[in-house]
Amino acid sequence: MTSDKPIVLCFGGNDPTGGAGLAADILSLNSLGCHCAPVVTAITSQDTSGLKQFSAVDAPQLISQARAILEDMDVAAFKTGMLPTTEAVSAIAAIADEYANIPLVLDPVLTTGAGQELSEEPIEDALRSLLIPRANLITPNSLEACRLAREADTLGACAQSLLSLGAEYVLITGTHEKTKTVVNHLHGHGLNKAYEVARLPGSYHGSGCTLAAACAAGLAHKMDIVDVVTHAIKYTEGSLKAGFKPGRGQAIPERLYWANAKGKPRIT
Ligand code: PLP
Repeated sequence: MTSDKPIVLCFGGNDPTGGAGLAADILSLNSLGCHCAPVVTAITSQDTSGLKQFSAVDAPQLISQARAILEDMDVAAFKTGMLPTTEAVSAIAAIADEYANIPLVLDPVLTTGAGQELSEEPIEDALRSLLIPRANLITPNSLEACRLAREADTLGACAQSLLSLGAEYVLITGTHEKTKTVVNHLHGHGLNKAYEVARLPGSYHGSGCTLAAACAAGLAHKMDIVDVVTHAIKYTEGSLKAGFKPGRGQAIPERLYWANAKGKPRIT
């Protein structure tokens, strides 16, 4: 029995709430017709209100997980999420360079949704010098874009700065901007395309992961970039609108919203 489901190898952290990180990747990719191969980069302790602590998986373990998959499966896309050390960034960059034909979506996870640090300056430097140049698409929110492009004074300038590092496309999301609607901007290859969506009430844990995973699904399905982003934004919006609150803090997106109407599993 063979499978024609595209496989997306995701490097990310485990979040025990099931809201962000690899759980978000697995659910989103499965929902979008892909299979996720989750490579654990970090183990976090958190609830829906915030992070308590995390520990990094060391680089040799990370490489060993990724190699096991790459030697067994035809991977259609890479996605990176939480990368907790500079060693993790350089190990993944080396693997991505070796498999240069596999497109890479880089979600620069620098903080939790509640604003707690998941990264630090040397990691951001390593992202800039090693992994952003290899990325086909990076998906920072506006705060992450400003941190990664320190000298830039507008979001457009941030995008240009990230493109000048070698990223092929940059999608800067606008949730954190003080605008009535949320405006996301895709830049690259001369494009500057705005995607405007309604601002939803409430705050969600794992929305950035959902968007980036959906972009990786689009690339794995070999869609063109404008369609990738259009579909990923629409999918994320559907997941957020159907979001639910499993704990006392943030809501989490319902990635199988089309199957689980109102969050209830469909038992047939
Ligand atoms: N990955 C992990 C393991 C996390 O814990 C978090 C946030 O807590 C994220 C990614 C980013 O989550 P979001 O999609 O809310 O930005």
